[in-house]
Amino acid sequence: METKNKKAIVTGGTRGIGRAIVKELATNTYFKGVLSDVAFIYNKSDEAAQQLINELENSQTKLFAIKADVSSFEETQKAISEAIEKLGGVDFLINNAGITRDTLLLRMSEKDFDDVIDSNLKSVFNCTKAVLKNLISQRSGRIVNISSVVALIGNAGQANYVASKAGVIGFTKSVAREVASRGITVNAVTPGFIKSDMTDKLTEEQKQKLVQNIPLARIGTPENVAKLVAFLCSEDADYITGQVISVDGGLAM
Ligand code: NAP
Repeated sequence: METKNKKAIVTGGTRGIGRAIVKELATNTYFKGVLSDVAFIYNKSDEAAQQLINELENSQTKLFAIKADVSSFEETQKAISEAIEKLGGVDFLINNAGITRDTLLLRMSEKDFDDVIDSNLKSVFNCTKAVLKNLISQRSGRIVNISSVVALIGNAGQANYVASKAGVIGFTKSVAREVASRGITVNAVTPGFIKSDMTDKLTEEQKQKLVQNIPLARIGTPENVAKLVAFLCSEDADYITGQVISVDGGLAM
């Protein structure tokens, strides 16, 4: 059994799936080596960030909140340097931050498109680039990118979002090939319909329609996704790289 805490950076840690990932990595002892000190990055929710720190106060791990916009290259380089300094290194990067600006393409503005690509795809480049030298020099590391099941099947009203999430899959596979020889794995997780602020925006009618298409006939939880992320960070997952793994109740099978 490893006893030393791992060091994880999670983007978008204040809410939804990211928050569940922070909690899982900071408290889980089920998978070998996954108990982690965590630096999480968020954009706006100061109160939620403080609440999470308070909630995990008594865990055996250290937690740091860093406010930065991961769609900005410069801001991200500073935030990740700060995270690595506070943690004293980095083992895992979880690229989870993301936004939606849903509308049909006919009505989609250039800003709707650019904002989503920058927050969901460019952010993954920004963060990955910022940790890569550290991971390469220690010849180990785990990168988990949160894509979406819609990247596999498309979704009307989400051309910007789906393009960003499909980009994340291509990025994942390419970087996985680049860094495999250095002992670093890079995988993508594609959640289906998961309860969070992002999906709370949908109308009841939209939610019911979505659930009808899910073989397991229910919405997933952020914890369903967080458990898979923890597994991909564990030593048990050391032969898995370049993969796209769905947590979607069977939606995209
Ligand atoms: P959420 O509840 O809306 O939370 C989004 C998180 O990302 C928040 O912590 C937010 O920080 C952070 N964030 C957004 N833009 C950022 C930026 N530019 N810089 C730094 N942080 C930023 O979302 P969620 O539903 O948990 O989704 C998490 C990830 O899973 C996203 O990538 C999403 O696309 C993906 N996903 C979600 C679902 C789903 O059904 N929920 C399905 C498939 C994929 P603030 O709190 O400070 O704003």
